[in-house]
Amino acid sequence: MFMRNIAFGYSTRCNIKCAHCVAAEETPDYKKMGLAKAKEIIRDMATAGVTGISFTAGEPFFYYDDLLEMVNLCREHNIYTRIVTNSSWAKTPEKAEHMLKTLKQGGLSQLRMSYSRWHQQHVPRQNVLNAAHGCIKTGISYFISFVTDFSEKDDEYEQFLRDNYLKFFPEPVIYAGRADAFDRKAIRTDYQDNRCTMNPYLAPDLSMYACCDAGSHFNNTEFFLLGNLKTNSIDQLFSISETTPLFNCIRSMGITAIASFSGMKARDIITYRKCELCKKLFDSPEILKTLKNADGLELQRWVR
Ligand code: SF4
Ligand code: SF4
Repeated sequence: MFMRNIAFGYSTRCNIKCAHCVAAEETPDYKKMGLAKAKEIIRDMATAGVTGISFTAGEPFFYYDDLLEMVNLCREHNIYTRIVTNSSWAKTPEKAEHMLKTLKQGGLSQLRMSYSRWHQQHVPRQNVLNAAHGCIKTGISYFISFVTDFSEKDDEYEQFLRDNYLKFFPEPVIYAGRADAFDRKAIRTDYQDNRCTMNPYLAPDLSMYACCDAGSHFNNTEFFLLGNLKTNSIDQLFSISETTPLFNCIRSMGITAIASFSGMKARDIITYRKCELCKKLFDSPEILKTLKNADGLELQRWVR
C-alpha cells in the first residue's frame, strides 16, 4: 500500500535565477495552471487518496493569494501541505510573520526553505532566518534544505545555519537543468543501494511524472512520464507509478543493483551520483529496452 504524496507544480515562474536550478526550463517562458483547474485537481486528488501535497516548481509565493486558496482547500480535505520556497518574500521579520500567520490560519502544515550558495546570490540569508523564526512563532513546522556540492565554499553557509540554531538537512545538488553544465568533481562512493522513494510530480501543463527531481528531465526516453491529466485520471496515473515493475525495482532493490544487472562494472558504478546513475540507465533507449525486457522476475531476482 502506497502513501500518495505529490509535488504540485502550480507554476514554473520564479523571481530569481539560481545557477543550479533543476526546474529551469529550456525557454524563458513559464507555465502556470489556472486556479480553478488546480482546485478541481486537488479535489480529485483527495478522492484518489492523496494525503500530502508539496507546492513547488518555481516560487509558489509568487501567487500568494492563489496559494492560500489551495492550502485552504487541502485543509478541507485533510491533506497535509508543504510549501517549498526561496524565502525572497520574507524581507522583514514582521512581514514574514504576517504572511505565515495567514497561511497557518489557512491550514499550512510545513514550510521548506531552499538555501544554498546559489540561492543566496539572490536572496539575503536574513530572509531565511526571518522565515524560520516566523514559522516558530506561528507554529508551522519548518526545515531548511541546504543544497550543497560538499565543497569548502559551502562551509560558511552551513555555519550560518548552525550559528542560528536552525533545523536543516543537507541535500546534494542535482546535476540536471542548469546544473547540468557544472563541473563535477570525480567521486568514488561506497557501493550503496541508491534506493529512491520517487515522489510523483504534477507539472503546470498537467503532465505527471513518477519522479519530482531530475527524472522529469529524462528527455530521451521520458521514462518517468506517467501521462497527462487531460486524458487520464489522477488515480490512473498514481496506479501506473505504483504498479510499473521497473519503478518498484528502483524503490525496493535500488539503482545500483539494476546498474550491475545491466552489465555495468562495479568499479564504474561507484563513480556515479545517484540521479546520474539513474539517468545513465533510464534515459538511454538501448539500456532501457534491455531492462524493460527483464523487468519481471529476472531483474527482481538480482538481489543478494
Ligand atoms: S532553484 Fe528554486 S528558487 Fe532557484 S531559480 Fe529554481 S525554482 Fe527558483
Ligand atoms: S534517483 Fe532517479 S527517481 Fe530518484 S530522484 Fe534521482 S532521477 Fe528521480
